[in-house]
Amino acid sequence: MKKQNCEEESGKLVPLIDLNKCEGKTPCVPICPYNVLEIREINDEQYAQLSFAGKIKTFFNGKKKAFVAKPDACHACGLCVSACPEKAIKLVKKN
Ligand code: SF4
Repeated sequence: MKKQNCEEESGKLVPLIDLNKCEGKTPCVPICPYNVLEIREINDEQYAQLSFAGKIKTFFNGKKKAFVAKPDACHACGLCVSACPEKAIKLVKKN
C-alpha cells in the first residue's frame, strides 16, 4: 500500500490497538504519514492483562507490539487499519 496524505482533521479519532491480536509485524508504523505509531516491547503489567491466547501469541512473537505514540497527530486516514495483517487496529473517538 502506498503512503498518502490524510485530509481528515487530526485529534478526533485515534487508533486503538488490540494487544491480544497485535504480533508486532510493523506494517502500520511506516505506512502512517504522521508517525503516530511505534513498535516497542510490551511491559509486564500490559502482558499480565492479555488473554491466555494473547499471552501465548505474544510469547512466540518476542513481546513486540504496536503502540500509539502520538495520538493527537492521527488524521484518521485508516491506512494502518488496512495494513495490519492481524486486524488488530481500529479507529475510535478520542476521549
Ligand atoms: S489512521 Fe493510522 S495511518 Fe492514518 S494517521 Fe491515524 S495512525 Fe496514522
